[in-house]
Amino acid sequence: MTSIQGEGRRTRVAILGCTGSIGTQALDVCRQHADKLQVVALSAHSRTSDLVRYAREFKVSYVGVTDESHTDDPVLQELPQGCELVSGPHAAVELARMDACDVVLVAIVGAAGLEASHAVLSGDRRLALANKESLVVGGDLLMPLAAPGQLLPVDSEHGAIFQCLTGEDPREAHCIWLTCSGGPFFGRTAKELECVTRHDALAHPTWNMGAKITIDSATLMNKGLERIEAMHLFGMGLDRINVLIQRESKIHSMVEFVDGSVIAHLGASDMRIPIQYAFTYPERWDTPAPRVDFRKLGKLSFDAPDMEAFRCLKLAEIAGELRGTMPCVLNAANEVAVDAFLHDRLGFNGIAAVVQTCMDAHDRCDVVSLEQLRDVDAWARERAERAICLMA
Ligand code: NDP
Ligand code: MG
Repeated sequence: MTSIQGEGRRTRVAILGCTGSIGTQALDVCRQHADKLQVVALSAHSRTSDLVRYAREFKVSYVGVTDESHTDDPVLQELPQGCELVSGPHAAVELARMDACDVVLVAIVGAAGLEASHAVLSGDRRLALANKESLVVGGDLLMPLAAPGQLLPVDSEHGAIFQCLTGEDPREAHCIWLTCSGGPFFGRTAKELECVTRHDALAHPTWNMGAKITIDSATLMNKGLERIEAMHLFGMGLDRINVLIQRESKIHSMVEFVDGSVIAHLGASDMRIPIQYAFTYPERWDTPAPRVDFRKLGKLSFDAPDMEAFRCLKLAEIAGELRGTMPCVLNAANEVAVDAFLHDRLGFNGIAAVVQTCMDAHDRCDVVSLEQLRDVDAWARERAERAICLMA
């Protein structure tokens, strides 16, 4: 599988998680290129008013609502004529299985996206994958399903690495430099992180994202998850995936080859670029994203991450090295802990403490099935909740 363009018709796009930060930016890409991209299916979890508005604007054929408490929202009566509504927890997976599209963007947040990603790769449609948790939790199940060129990473660093490796022999890659903005708390000690608030943590210096990934960026768990994501996508051990703080977020990542040459991917900090490329690969189309004027940039700075202060990065490394079901536990515990932090039930450093408690209590197994991952995920969530209650 290489290009999905051509054949005299528009590329048919499904966007799962269309109401979020990535979803709405993907809709913007489709708006910009309405002559070449046709939105055919959309899913939302709870924001049904937005879903209906987008369904009407793009005249989509299918919509899904995954949150059962929103499947009867009166606004759903206003869906365009002929638009089919799929409701319930499996709605996103049902849309992911549809033949009537060419590319599915999984922009759902959290492990909830895993089964939809799995469903896309089980068919022959392209998977534009923003949902990194799919690979963190289920990379061992997903990667063997992916045909060459079928899985296009949307995560900006992984999109960058994918492009640095294009046309290269992956066996000649020596290591990856996975860049990281450092988040809002760059330079702080563990002690100084003790009393940071939700408000402080939500103020990311460069990217405007959903709440969960914004907190993950503040704890650096996001970078830990991304190392595991890169390990699966590019078939490299974690010891060859180095995290590099790049405060300006202009270098999106780099690949160093065996001869010492380093290929970097640079550009604006605008998620519409990697989203669009995942739709258009191997073509490049224009975007309204701001350009970088390197004459005005002044400097690019580099730092090593502090794994002591940002304990989540270390925990993700341990989980990624152990592999099997441990990353599933890391991820589920983190989701619960981040939610508790966002609701003022847990302090900032408590996030790593909860994740560690769950990892310590887990006996790692090899990953064998989605059902097994569902059980491990549920166990870790329950264990994390208990740990949070004990810490209160
Ligand atoms: P948001 O929180 O902004 O959006 C999440 C989307 O998922 C919403 O459409 C939401 O629906 C839907 N959703 C939430 N829970 C569920 C569920 N249980 N089942 C199905 N759908 C659900 O997140 P982001 O857009 O920021 O992130 C999406 C994914 O992309 C994450 O995995 C993130 O790590 C990744 N990513 C994001 C980047 C960014 O810049 N934002 C950059 C790189 C990767 P509703 O709103 O209707 O409730
Ligand atoms: Mg990223």
